[in-house]
Formats: sequence, C-alpha cells, structure tokens
Amino acid sequence: MTKQVDVAILGGGTGGYIAAIAAAQFGYSVVVIERDRLGGTCLHRGCIPSKSLLRSAEIVAQAKTSESFGIHIEGVKVDFKAVQARKQAVVDQLHRGVQYLMKKHNIEVIHGNGRVMGPSIFSPKSGSVAVELADDEVITVVPKHLIIATGSRPRLLPGLEPDGDRIATSDEALEWTSLPESVAIIGGGVIGIEWASLLHDFGVEVDLIEAGPRILPLEDADISKEMTRLLTKKGIRIHTSAAVESEAVLKDEKGVHLIIGKEGEPVTLTADRVLVSIGRIGNVEQLGLENTNVRIDRGTIQVNESLQTHEPHIYAIGDCIGGLQLAHAASAEGIAAVKHMRGESGVHVSDKMIPKCIYSKPEAASIGYTEEEARKEGYDVTVSKIPFSAIGKALVEGDTDGFVKVVIDQHTEDVLGVHIIGPHATELIGEASLAKLLNASPWELGQVIHAHPTLSEIMSEVMLAVDGKSLVM
Ligand SMILES: Cc1cc2nc3c(=O)[nH]c(=O)nc-3n(C[C@H](O)[C@H](O)[C@H](O)COP(=O)(O)OP(=O)(O)OC[C@H]3O[C@@H](n4cnc5c(N)ncnc54)[C@H](O)[C@@H]3O)c2cc1C
Repeated sequence: MTKQVDVAILGGGTGGYIAAIAAAQFGYSVVVIERDRLGGTCLHRGCIPSKSLLRSAEIVAQAKTSESFGIHIEGVKVDFKAVQARKQAVVDQLHRGVQYLMKKHNIEVIHGNGRVMGPSIFSPKSGSVAVELADDEVITVVPKHLIIATGSRPRLLPGLEPDGDRIATSDEALEWTSLPESVAIIGGGVIGIEWASLLHDFGVEVDLIEAGPRILPLEDADISKEMTRLLTKKGIRIHTSAAVESEAVLKDEKGVHLIIGKEGEPVTLTADRVLVSIGRIGNVEQLGLENTNVRIDRGTIQVNESLQTHEPHIYAIGDCIGGLQLAHAASAEGIAAVKHMRGESGVHVSDKMIPKCIYSKPEAASIGYTEEEARKEGYDVTVSKIPFSAIGKALVEGDTDGFVKVVIDQHTEDVLGVHIIGPHATELIGEASLAKLLNASPWELGQVIHAHPTLSEIMSEVMLAVDGKSLVM
C-alpha cells in the first residue's frame, strides 16, 4: 500500500509528536511512524518516569527530616512496587493523552519500523519511508517533507552490557522491582546525578564515579562545585577523575566489584548493582539513510540551522542530531522545522535559549553561557550571586542551600547566563528563559515585583546585585 502525505515523521517521541501537531495545525496532512509507543524516551524511559520516582524519593527524604519542622513521623517504609505502580500510572495517563492528541489533530499513526528509501518511479525524490508492520506487511509513505526524529539510546561501556540483573542503564533501572542496598553509578552527568539523588533518598548507599575532574561538566563550575558539596553532605560518595574500565568490573554472588583508578591508585568499590549513565547515542543506524544524501557525523545526523539535512526536504530534530538532548529542545526543533518547511524564515533554535534542568535534590537549572564559556568567547563579564539563605521563603521551606548566579555582558548588559542550584531551581529558571527571550537587562529584571515571601524574589535580587543594589545582601 502507498500513502501520499504532506509531512511524514519518523519517530513518535517528544520531538516527533509535537512536530506532528504543529504541522497538522498548519493544515498539513501528517503521518507519524513509530515502532514502539508514542511518547518515546521522555514519556516511557526518561523525563516522566524518572521524575515520578524522584518525587516519591523526595517524599521519603521529607518524611525523614520532618522532625526539624516539629513533626514526628515514625516507621517510614518504602513500598517500591507501589512507587513503580504510581510511576506507571502517570506514564499511562500521559500516553493516553498523546494518543488522544493524535486523533484530535487527525494525525495518522502507523505502528511499525520505518526505513527511508531512495528515489523511485513512485517518488522521484528520496525520502519515502517503507514501514514494516508487525504482520510483515509493508506500507510505503510518500511525503513531500520528512522529519527524522528517531531519538537516542543509552551509551554502553563496551564489555559491560546490561545483564537484566546487576548491570543496568537508566532503561533497565526504571523497571527495577526492588531497590538495591548499594549502587555504583558510572557517570556524573545529569542522569547519573538524578539517579544518585533519588536512590540515596530511598535509602540506597551510593557511589558516584566520574571520569572527568568534576561532576556535571557542562554546567557552570560553581554549580558543579556546590552540587558536589551538597550531594557529599547528603552522604553520596563522589569519585572524580576515576575511570572505570569494563575489565575492572567483576561480578560474584556478593555483588559487583569495580576497580577504579583514583589519583593513580586502584581503589575497589563493591555494590549490589551498577548503573551505567555515560551519555546517549543517536538512533541513526538502519534507517536507510545510505539511500539518501543525508549525512551522519560522529553518530548524529547533520543539519543546518533550519534543521534541514543535506536533502532539503528531509529535516532531522531531537536527540538524533545531538546538541542538547532534551525533550523541550526536541519539540522546539520540531516546531521550527515545520515553520521552515512552510516558508517562515529566521526560526532557529539556539542552544543558548534552552533551559537545562537537573531534578536531583538539590535541584539545579541553567540557561545560556557558563562563566567560563562567556570569558572564552571574549565577553567581559560581570557576575553576581545571591544565596538562597538570604531569601525568607527558603528559610520557611527549610531549604536554604544553593544560590543563583548570573553572568552579564559588561558592555551590552545582555544576560549571558543564569545558573541556579537550590529549591525549585527547575521552576525558577522559567523566569530566566523569559528574560533571555525578551532580551531584558539586569536593571529591568531588578524592577520585577515578586510576591513576598516567594523563592522567586531571588531572581530580582540577583539582578539588582549586578549593580551592587541587592536589598537582601
Ligand atoms: C533517564 C532520562 C531522563 C531524562 N529526563 C529528561 C528531563 O527531565 N527533561 C528533558 O528535557 N529531557 C530528559 N531526557 C531526555 C529526553 O527524554 C530526550 O531528549 C527526548 O525524549 C528526545 O526526544 P526525541 O523525539 O528526539 O526522541 P525520542 O523521545 O527518543 O523518540 C524517538 C522515537 O523514535 C522511534 N523510532 C526510532 N527509530 C525508528 C524507526 N526506524 N521506525 C519507527 N520509529 C522509530 C523510537 O521508538 C522513539 O519512540 C531524559 C532522558 C533519559 C534517558
């Protein structure tokens, strides 16, 4: 069977389904091709299930510290099966929501594995997609425009593949039916930090191993330092500049033994389970891209700033093009690609406008340049910082650790970067995103009247502090 459509989208994850809705809203006929479940990594193996577990872990942590609020809670017990069931209920509800949205916008979803085809008599341009259905039937979708949104998967340490028992990536860990007593997490990026935090709050002993000199290497150095301090204070053991080779991981009935090189000396750690979180790689293989002029470089599909591949009618978005592998980046790119195909110009998604959030306890969030990046780019910068301990609401919340730091261009007064670590950082960053979009100056942001007492007061205070005018410091 052959289907002609305006837009075909290969991959129904966050990037793909949002692009589909945007295209349908512009009046295009749209087909989404998905080999698994609509919603992709974010909904089934990423953002949503992990945040659901983090929320349960946060409640355990709160219950354990409730005495400082004058509340005595005894016998806090984690029913991990119930925690997992709640997580699944959240995922299932949102999954139904995505299915409903596809119907509402008359988007046809074809469930099958898609492969991009070269030019043929039916389709003179490359970019038709042969979709293999579960019953081996093949449907050929011939679109005017194709968006590739095939996502990514966990990067594995060669020789240390998930074994369904003691070695897991985040994919397997999300399906654990019981908690280990101890875990060694390899990789101190965002996923590693979130898992370290949530497992620790559930009562698991955590060793976090990072090959580089600091955890969260992509974040501002001050955030990374404060995160290290606060996680260590919680009781998480952090090992930096500590590489793990898969040959140095041995399993026996007692657990997993890892020999890590730490400051030149081998150190042995033993844990019940190992979680490998060393990054993600794009799903770019076996897509039939060799039938096209689409280029792949270091595991990612190459696109221009309008998200077009080397075949102008084929776009690629989301994790499969690398960059910031985040759900909201994928959806912003999906919308930008659709706008470009209908002739809108100048719709670009800049990494510097995308907020990055870490949902550990403490939370962290940032947007724009780190101080190091800004200086490296040649900006003369002014930096200001306000600690949460100066904010009344943080005291009320019992959560005064952390700070907000801003990086300002001395000459233009542009806000180059905002970096937050502390309570509700992932919500507070929204104001910084708006500030960046509106290109507001620190003076303007300092004039915003925030309700008192709120944590958001810290946002105007940090901007006033740029000129030494903070009212709380
Ligand atoms: C543990 C974890 C936590 C995360 N937390 C966050 C977070 O809090 N916030 C955030 O912004 N991001 C988070 N992310 C990242 C986020 O999940 C991804 O950036 C986002 O899902 C990328 O969307 P996408 O559309 O590019 O790809 P995906 O969501 O991966 O979707 C790709 C889809 O394409 C399908 N597909 C692939 N190949 C084919 C084919 N040949 N035929 C048919 N279908 C195909 C796949 O089945 C999949 O459904 C997290 C990721 C992980 C792993």
